[in-house]
Amino acid sequence: MFKKWRLTDRTRMLLKLELALTLPAVALMAFSIWNLKHFQRDQAIEAAYQRDFTHVLKIAESKSWMKANEYLVPVRKEFPSPQDKDVKGKLDRLLEDHPELDYAVLYDKKSNMFVARMTNYDRSQDFCTFIQMDFNDLQSWMQSQAAMYTEHIRMMGEKGEEPVIFYGGWEWKKDKHVYTNESLFVPAGTAKDEITIGIVSFNPDYLQKTFFPGIMKDVLNSKSNAFHQDVNPPAMMIHPYRDNTVWVTSSNWEGEKGEVDYQFSNVFQGMVWSIKFPGTTIADISAKFMRSNFLILGALSVLMLGGILLSYRNISREMNLARLKSDFVANVSHELRTPLALIRLYAETLELGRITSKEKYQEYFRIIREESERLSALINNILDFSRIEAGRKEYEFKETDLSELVRSTLDTYRFQIEQNGFAFEENIAKDIPPVNVDREAIARSLLNLVNNALKYSKDKKFIGVNLYRANGSVKLEVQDHGIGIPPAEQEKIFEKFYRCGDPLVHNVKGSGLGLSLVRHIARAHGGDVKVESAPEMGSKFTIALPLDPSVRQGTAIA
Ligand code: ADP
Repeated sequence: MFKKWRLTDRTRMLLKLELALTLPAVALMAFSIWNLKHFQRDQAIEAAYQRDFTHVLKIAESKSWMKANEYLVPVRKEFPSPQDKDVKGKLDRLLEDHPELDYAVLYDKKSNMFVARMTNYDRSQDFCTFIQMDFNDLQSWMQSQAAMYTEHIRMMGEKGEEPVIFYGGWEWKKDKHVYTNESLFVPAGTAKDEITIGIVSFNPDYLQKTFFPGIMKDVLNSKSNAFHQDVNPPAMMIHPYRDNTVWVTSSNWEGEKGEVDYQFSNVFQGMVWSIKFPGTTIADISAKFMRSNFLILGALSVLMLGGILLSYRNISREMNLARLKSDFVANVSHELRTPLALIRLYAETLELGRITSKEKYQEYFRIIREESERLSALINNILDFSRIEAGRKEYEFKETDLSELVRSTLDTYRFQIEQNGFAFEENIAKDIPPVNVDREAIARSLLNLVNNALKYSKDKKFIGVNLYRANGSVKLEVQDHGIGIPPAEQEKIFEKFYRCGDPLVHNVKGSGLGLSLVRHIARAHGGDVKVESAPEMGSKFTIALPLDPSVRQGTAIA
């Protein structure tokens, strides 16, 4: 009844501990998996990359705008005003000084001036025709719109903005898709109320070969670009609006299409910038991220599971030990009480002096001696055990004649063994050389083994002790025909406090310390102890002690 209650209590305790560990761990894992799934479903990674890509392209636009303005600052300064005498010559010089420009135009409403000049270096017939077409468009455009533009540009200036309006777009001229662009401003020397406009156009070749590649490089190296330190930085490409023909690319561009397109609107309108990672796609990156995260989660789960199992094992081992310890206290108190009660009883009887027969005297004295021997053996075991536990057990190794040691140890026991109705066989080989051992410890081991053989035998009462030499060691065997030990328990019996589950064992007094001491002693001598046994068939314990003392690992083993 008591035992049953304790078992359920123990199970409950284990369950609680496991729940305290398992539940949060499982919850954490489930939450992480749910989170990842959510991430996957919302395509959160793809969206984040797309955001970053768009941001990079916006940087490209603002850099292009700044760069274009930078070019225009000296141009605006050097630009002639309608009052200048040689407007044509000044415009030609300006174009010579600024090879990035294709043409320059000055329009003044009051004087109805429209002077348009194009660069004069070797240009194709087409180029001249195209530009002439632009000039014609511009002239009529200015006549109707110049007033509005002048006002707009002046307002920009008053607001502290760069006073330049940019236009751009693609046109089919003959069978060519050509980029046209205009930058409109009010020339520096113009009076406040005049409607005067200066127009320049950037050379598309220059834009394509120098300007935009430079901007791309600049953007990729810019610190505000999220991919600034990436091993695989994104690649960029520019193509005309509604036309996927590649126009400009960064050096790492490959393939046809980008992942994100962004159309410029503040400057160089009509340009569409594309961006992507070379050699991979955002979808691939996202899939890889998911895969590695799931893998990591999997690995973590396995680790966690391992941890839980380990802690489960540790906890149950600790609880087992706690149970064994409490059994031990009960057993030891019982073991101490019984011989003490017997000693007291017989001593008191002797004291009364009523015993007349000599044999009775002898018998009573013998019982008192045997019981006190049992007590000392038990107390010695406990003392040894506590020394071992505290790491203070020391052995005194001395060259010893093992045959003599075994014989004399058994002699003190022989009478008791035979009194208990045991057949006793002792085989001590003649060729046992002196061995370096701790005499007392070996004697105690032998006593423990013989004592166990006595305790754990039922009807077949036999004890055999053999001492012989084999394979570089001396073997000390104690054999019985007793209850035996089930295979599952044959390793456990050497653990401290362990006692077999057999009911007979529980009716026999014991502390569960004897065999753990025997093993400790054997190992301290560089040897070991083994058991061969089968239930109801008896047991054979063998202590092997190496002849070569160098095998020994030291004098104290905790
Ligand atoms: P104790 O005998 O005090 O219980 P031991 O450490 O000497 O402690 O033995 C541990 C257990 O091993 C015993 O409780 C018993 O179950 C089992 N055992 C030891 N020796 C024998 C034996 N000769 N035959 C059967 N069982 C044994």
